[in-house]
Amino acid sequence: FEIPEIDFRAQLNDEQYAAVTAQPGPLLILAGAGSGKTRTLTYRVAYLLSKGVRAGEILLLTFTNKAAKEMLDRVEELTGVEGRSFWGGTFHSIGHRLLRMHGEAIGVPKNFTILDAGEAETVLKHAVESVESSFFKNKTHPKPGPLSSIISMARNTCESIERTIIDFFPQHHDFIERIEGFAEAYAKKKKEQNVVDYDDLLVFWLKLLEEAPEVAEYYQKRFQHCLVDEYQDTNVLQAAIIDKMAPHHRIMAVGDDAQCIYSWRGANFDNILTFPDRHPGTEILRIETNYRSTPEILTMANAIISNRTTAGFDKELRAHKPSAQRPYVVQAMDTREQAQFVITRIRGLIDEGQDPREIAVLYRSHFVALDMQMELSRAGVPYQITSGVRFFEQAHIKDLVAHLRLVYNPADVTAFLRLFLLLPKVGEKTAQKLYDHTLAIAKKHELDFIDALRHEATVKKAPAASRADWEAVALTLRDMKQIADTGTPDEVVQIAIDGWYSSYLQGAYANYSNRLEDLNSLVGFAARFEEMQELIAQITLLNSETSGRMEESDEAIRLTTVHQAKGLEFNVVFVIGAADGFFPTRRSIDVGDTEEERRLFYVAVTRARDELYVLYPKMNTKGGPSMFLNPSRFLQEISTDLFEPIRIRRNYGW
Ligand code: ATP
Ligand code: MG
Repeated sequence: FEIPEIDFRAQLNDEQYAAVTAQPGPLLILAGAGSGKTRTLTYRVAYLLSKGVRAGEILLLTFTNKAAKEMLDRVEELTGVEGRSFWGGTFHSIGHRLLRMHGEAIGVPKNFTILDAGEAETVLKHAVESVESSFFKNKTHPKPGPLSSIISMARNTCESIERTIIDFFPQHHDFIERIEGFAEAYAKKKKEQNVVDYDDLLVFWLKLLEEAPEVAEYYQKRFQHCLVDEYQDTNVLQAAIIDKMAPHHRIMAVGDDAQCIYSWRGANFDNILTFPDRHPGTEILRIETNYRSTPEILTMANAIISNRTTAGFDKELRAHKPSAQRPYVVQAMDTREQAQFVITRIRGLIDEGQDPREIAVLYRSHFVALDMQMELSRAGVPYQITSGVRFFEQAHIKDLVAHLRLVYNPADVTAFLRLFLLLPKVGEKTAQKLYDHTLAIAKKHELDFIDALRHEATVKKAPAASRADWEAVALTLRDMKQIADTGTPDEVVQIAIDGWYSSYLQGAYANYSNRLEDLNSLVGFAARFEEMQELIAQITLLNSETSGRMEESDEAIRLTTVHQAKGLEFNVVFVIGAADGFFPTRRSIDVGDTEEERRLFYVAVTRARDELYVLYPKMNTKGGPSMFLNPSRFLQEISTDLFEPIRIRRNYGW
C-alpha cells in the first residue's frame, strides 16, 4: 500500500514539523489554545504511516469520539488509509472495546451491559440499602449523588475512599467506614447483575493490563505508538492506563495546562508535570503561534490567563492572523435582552452569509441557556444543543433501550425495573419480587428468562391491574428475542416500538407523536450496527458525551456548555452569562477558588476565530446569586482597552 507523498513542511510550521517528525519516544507537547496541537497529532499519524507504521499499530486517545473521527477522517484524506482501520476514541470507548473482547480474563462476562450515570446511582442506592436499610431515611446522611461522586472520585484518582473523603469531601468525614462498605456492596451488586458503570470501563482496563498478562503483552506489542490529545484533562487512572499500555514509552501527549477544566472529575495537571519522570528521555516541545484567532481575541485571552494565581507554564501566544476588531463586551439589562441581542446579531451574520454552524453560543451552566433556547425557538432560529437534555437521556428512549437490554442480558435487573415499573400498580418492591419470581420459574421449568415471563405461574403473580400489560410486554420481548439472533438490530428495535410500548406511550404522554418520531429515528440509528450489543453499548456511551441530535443539521447554530466546546472552534462565538456568580460560579467564589473557572473562561474565549462577544445580564430575574450582577471578575481584571464595550441600555452603566 503506497502512501502518497505529503509535503509536511508546507502544511506545518517549524515547531509543529519538529513534533510531527520527532524520533519515536516519549514526547510532550505543551502549547496554548489554537496553536495546532490537534493538527500536529493528526499529521503525526500521517507521518508514522508514511514511515511504514501500520494503522493497527497506532492507538489514538481523544476527549470525544467525534474528535477522533474527525482526526482520522483527515488522516484518510492525507494518506488514503481508512479511518476505520485505527483504534481511536475516548478512553471509555476503547476501554469498552477491550473489556468486551477480553473481560472474561478478569471475570467480566462478555454480555455485560453499561449503566448510565442515573442508573448507576440507583444501583448504588440499592446497594447501600442492602447494607443499611434505613440509611437514606436520615436526612443528615449523604444522598446517593454525593456517595456516587466520592466512590467515582476515589476510583479515578486511584486513591482510597478514606483519602478521597479527607481531601475532597471533608464534610462526610464521619461516614468513612460506612462508605467503604457501601463501595464494596456496590461492586458486588454490579457483578451480580452483570453490569458495569462508566468508571469500570477504565478500572477494568487497567485491571486487564495488570492481571491478564497475555492480554497486556499482546496490546503492548501491538500498539507501537500511543497518541493522546487533551492530556491536561486525563486523571491519574487514565495516565496509569497509558503508561501501562506503553512500556516502550512511545507516547505522544499534547496538552495545555491553562485549559485543565476537569479537576472536579479527578483530572490532574500533575500528570503533565510528572510525565518526564515517568518517561525517561521525554522530549518537551512547544508551539507558540496561534492559527485560530485574531490578534485582538488572543490578546484578551492571554490577559485573562496571565492573571492566574496558580503555577503554570508561561506561554505567550503570537497570532498568525491579521488584525481585526476587538472583542465586544455586551451589558444587557437581563437574560431576555441578552438573548435578544444575540439573536439579532445572529440574524445579521446569517444575512451577511455566515454559515450558521460556524456560530456558537457558549455558557457555563445549563440553566443559563434556558432563556436563550426559548428566545431562539420563538424567533425561529434553528439551533443544535449539545448539552442539557440529550437525546438518549429522554425517558422514552431509555424505556425502549431497556427492552433491548433485557432481551440481551436478562440478568440486567436495572433494565427490568425500568421497564416493568411502567406497568400500573407496580412499584419497586413488587417489580423486584416479580423479577425474583420469574427467575425461580425459569429455573424450575428450565425456561429461558424471557419465556418464563409468559409462564402461567409468573403471570398469576402480577397485580391484577397490570396483568394484561404484563402479558403484552412479555409477548413483545419474546418477539424481539425470536429474531434477535438472526435479525438485524433495527428489526429488533422496530418490534419493540410496534409492541406494547407504543400503546403505553400513547396513554402516557400528550406529545405522543413527537416521542414516537424520536423512537423511529432510533430505528435508523440502529441500522448502522451489526450487533445488538454494540448498539446498546453505543447508546449508553453517547450519554456520557456530546450528542445533541441524531443527525447534524446543516442550518443550525450551536448551543453548548464551555466544557463541551473543548477543542472546537467557530467563526463567531457568543459567551453568555459572563457575570460574577454565574461565571465564575457562586460556589467557586464562596470557596475562594476561581482558578478552574478562569481556565474555563480562557477555553471559552479561545474558541473564537474572528468575532467574539462576551455578554452579561445586569439584572438577575431568575433567582440565583443576587438581584444585581457585576461583570465577571475575569473581565473586570483586564484593561478596558482590550475590548469594545456595548451597552444596550444607557441607564445601567458600569
Ligand atoms: P485547542 O487547544 O483549542 O485544542 P489546538 O492547539 O488543538 O487547540 P488546533 O485545533 O489543532 O489547535 O488548530 C487550531 C486551528 O489552527 C485549526 O483550524 C488548524 O487547522 C489551524 N492551524 C494549526 N496549525 C496550522 C498551520 N501550520 N497552518 C495553517 N493552519 C493551522
Ligand atoms: Mg485541540
